[in-house]
Amino acid sequence: MRRLLPACLIAAVLAVPAAASASTSAGGSWHSATPEGGALDLSAVALGQEERELVFRAKSRQPITPALLSATGGGEICLSIDPKATAARRLCLSRESGRWQFKLSGRAIDAKVTQPRATEVEVRFQPGDAALRKGAVDWNVFARAAGCVSVMGLGAPQGAAGPKVRLGAEPELPCTHQLPRTGSYAGRVWQVKVSGCVATGAAQVSRGPRGKRVALTYDDGPAVLTPAFMSKLKSLGVPATFFMVGQQVGGRAALLRQMLADGHMVANHSWNHPMMGAGGPGASSQLSRTNAAIRNATGYTPCLFRPPYGSTGADLVRRVRAQGMTSVLWSVDPLDWRQPGSGAIASRIISQAGPGAIILSHDGGGPRGQTLAALPSIVKALKRKGYTFVTVNELLGYREKLSLVR
Ligand code: ZN
Repeated sequence: MRRLLPACLIAAVLAVPAAASASTSAGGSWHSATPEGGALDLSAVALGQEERELVFRAKSRQPITPALLSATGGGEICLSIDPKATAARRLCLSRESGRWQFKLSGRAIDAKVTQPRATEVEVRFQPGDAALRKGAVDWNVFARAAGCVSVMGLGAPQGAAGPKVRLGAEPELPCTHQLPRTGSYAGRVWQVKVSGCVATGAAQVSRGPRGKRVALTYDDGPAVLTPAFMSKLKSLGVPATFFMVGQQVGGRAALLRQMLADGHMVANHSWNHPMMGAGGPGASSQLSRTNAAIRNATGYTPCLFRPPYGSTGADLVRRVRAQGMTSVLWSVDPLDWRQPGSGAIASRIISQAGPGAIILSHDGGGPRGQTLAALPSIVKALKRKGYTFVTVNELLGYREKLSLVR
């Protein structure tokens, strides 16, 4: 938070790269089929992805009743992935013992089956459970109504008076269908990437909810000692939140990506550390430039901002939230930037930290060797008191923003 105020504040508003589009769903549009008649005449099918789940949907011209898909009667709707490949996977939906079953090669997999309407079924499942990896896939759908009697490779529904087929003729009402009739549809399993976090609740906080959790935060980096902080945190097995000065991010993309890979949180501490409490358009530009720099380096857009010097105000907080962030102050300040000695830094933090504490420290902006040296005793003492260390977004219960990437 504290640092010498730069002699000259750069007020120029520089162009900010447009935000990369972060789609959380892909595919899933309906492929429709011409009417063929029969009890389970599918009118359309769809396969898409929403966040981590694949979503398979099938629509019929008649209600899809449990009886129609009864496994004992041979009823099923099957999704075949890469049907022509040696690694073809056949995923079949049916009713067994009054419940939906979605099976891969006869083995039930975890799936959420719903009927948004009587004529439609929707199955959600994890690609990994169906042995699917990211990449292009071909798929088709096979459907058979329960009670179907096959005649000469085709089938007809069984009526009260027996199969409605005439010998030597085509069945009047087919009860098996394949969509598409020939070939397959093109689809894709996307890789899911965490692209940010979603700031909710209060737009400015100085602590988290009262649980036995605390958040270590480091301001004014990335700087020369930041890698040393990261390796110490790694050896202690705790995460931290790094509030970074945007103009220092350039050339350190690998370091920032390592932060995220290590479980730390990357966060915004303005572009060049001015007083921002008065707000105004210049403040918005400080926020957006820094988020753009962090996003360009990591693909991750921060949802946490810490105002330099703790200088805040209503207009600033409004601008912070308008950019999808929360203004994060602190509840514990050891004044480590004054270099009171690592023992003093540790004892101040250990004595001031309570449930939900947000602990302020510095990894940049000056000599931070004392702050680094204080870290092991802080972590050991607070763990002994029963505290768990979390990132600020975790402390505040923010959910992750996911996006799909090729
Ligand atoms: Zn600062």
